[in-house]
Amino acid sequence: MAAHPSLGTVYLVGAGPGDPELLTVRAHGLLCSCDALAYDALVPSPLLALPPPTCHKVFVGKRRGHHFVSQKSTNAMLAQLASTHKTIVRLKGGDPFVFGRGAEEAAHLHALGVPVQVVPGITAGIAVPAYIGLPVTHREAGSSVTFVTGHELVDKERHGVNWQALATATDTLVIYMGIHSLGMIVAELLAGGMDPATPAAAIQQGATALQKQVIGPMAALPQLVQEQGLQAPAIVVVGKVVDQRIPACAPPLPKAEMPIPVPTTVATIQVS
Ligand code: SAH
Repeated sequence: MAAHPSLGTVYLVGAGPGDPELLTVRAHGLLCSCDALAYDALVPSPLLALPPPTCHKVFVGKRRGHHFVSQKSTNAMLAQLASTHKTIVRLKGGDPFVFGRGAEEAAHLHALGVPVQVVPGITAGIAVPAYIGLPVTHREAGSSVTFVTGHELVDKERHGVNWQALATATDTLVIYMGIHSLGMIVAELLAGGMDPATPAAAIQQGATALQKQVIGPMAALPQLVQEQGLQAPAIVVVGKVVDQRIPACAPPLPKAEMPIPVPTTVATIQVS
């Protein structure tokens, strides 16, 4: 549908994965001037202080197993905000189009005639490994990289990801939302023919003061993760690139912790 001239524009903005300094210049400009902000649970909390005091802030986050606000309500709320505000920032952790449902929100708004624009962000799958000096590609150790979600089985009955095929189809696997299913994932990769000694890393709360990681052969990773008590959010990297780590080149971690933001306003829109 053609954009409606009286409606505000919704910007689907990537916040980056943890360190607030990873925000893009474009995202910073929009955050500093928006009159409405709808934000996710994984958004670095210092960014919430950027909008002007008059900005209407709404928390629309989800955490695994705790859907504070349904996707349907979020879609409806964004459309409603566009009818009452001019510049609406829909702030999402990392990049809005990488496992972030950004495309679903964009499609919904576009169908209603709401002007919508995406502002890419730095995705966790690239930045979080970099924060331990780990490159996701390397001329000698990784010519291909696959981003994959480990969360599909929790939501769906069928296997959405063919882990056994991935075991030999790519040099580097970057797994989002995989920490809870890591035992299953590793078992599937082994069954698919992956060398159990393939180096692997799991990084929790990357690019924040709470960052913690374990590194070891992929067959041992689930046990290492359990022993060290690693929790979501975490990125898992499997592949020879893990041996190419140069910890000394990792950026300094931000000093402030990244607590999950407390809701300021909880969406109250009713959706039939
Ligand atoms: N759109 C986001 C991903 C959303 S899915 C992006 O582009 O980064 C949420 C998952 O991203 C988490 O479960 C975790 O796997 C990963 N993630 C996001 N932030 C992270 C962080 N700071 N440290 C480790 N993993 C993170």
